[in-house]
Amino acid sequence: MQFFVLEETSGASKTEYDLIIIGGGPAGLTAALYGARYKLETAVMEKETPGGQVTLTDFVENYPGFPEGIEASKLAHQFEEHAKNAGAEIIAREVNKVIKHGEKDFEVFTHHGDSFRAKSLIIATGCNPRRLGVPGEEELTGKGVSYCAVCDGPFFKGKPIAVVGGGESALTEALYLAKLTDKLYLIHRRDQFRGAKVLGDRVRNHPNINLVLNSVVTEILGDGKVSGVMVKNKLTGETQKLDVDAVFIYIGLIPNIGPFKEFVETDEAGFIVTDEKMRTKTPGIFAAGDVRSKDLRQIVTAVSDGALAATSADEYINS
Ligand code: NAP
Repeated sequence: MQFFVLEETSGASKTEYDLIIIGGGPAGLTAALYGARYKLETAVMEKETPGGQVTLTDFVENYPGFPEGIEASKLAHQFEEHAKNAGAEIIAREVNKVIKHGEKDFEVFTHHGDSFRAKSLIIATGCNPRRLGVPGEEELTGKGVSYCAVCDGPFFKGKPIAVVGGGESALTEALYLAKLTDKLYLIHRRDQFRGAKVLGDRVRNHPNINLVLNSVVTEILGDGKVSGVMVKNKLTGETQKLDVDAVFIYIGLIPNIGPFKEFVETDEAGFIVTDEKMRTKTPGIFAAGDVRSKDLRQIVTAVSDGALAATSADEYINS
């Protein structure tokens, strides 16, 4: 038998829970709220600040109940407080391995070298940003290449900026960044946007946003910091250099399923397949939120997944 000494900083009061939720975004925190209200000993393991991808944006306009919209950080904080008030614990840990010891007996190991046991697990680990994979991107990340407008945008106030992508994230973040600069290029590989029409219309009509459509970034330029991007028009084949100080990349998401691979089935894009009760192929392990294979990745669908996953976990634990 192994004994682990809990570091005070983990936030955990014990090492055994009924339900451990991995990931503290909207799905995980909602699962925690529901789990705690089902009187399950519930913990959320989160490697960063609770709130998930919501913390990487500025303002949320499409979450019901907030007709004027709500600051993203405030909404994330409210989710966290709600889960904690219900009795859930937030453990500051990154999970790197899971072992199933038997029915209703899972052990999760962390990068800190400690481990926690639970009768059921909910995977709510969300996604990481997809990389463009062009020359200059890796070397200049943190030096003008960014995947988080709200974190890094303010450093480039008044400077020319490029945003890459045509989904909801690229449109939302372009609109945010266009408040900081009057020279923003939105580079998208098609001429139609994937993101919500209301956002697409706003982007098209924005005086600070220059659309660079049917175009792909072939290289990010800079020596120690970004100085421009090379962009190729897919229809004409012409290449042009745009002088920008920053490039914000929003071209989709890669699901975080590393430690859970053997316990779940995934779709062709790597997202976890569940049924309507959020069950994975392993009894006792559920998945919720953006990491799950589904059509609509929004805060509102993440919280729905979280509620369902916790309900199913409660049924599993008490069956
Ligand atoms: P997304 O919807 O997958 O869109 C990715 C965009 O990047 C697409 O326009 C795509 O072009 C483009 N793209 C993909 N690979 C590319 C490449 N290699 N080079 C150039 N362009 C590339 O991703 P997202 O915008 O990050 O959104 C992810 C999910 O989060 C979506 O389900 C979205 O609805 C959701 N979301 C929700 C909220 C909210 O709830 N408020 C906010 C933001 C995002 P094509 O269109 O040509 O494929």
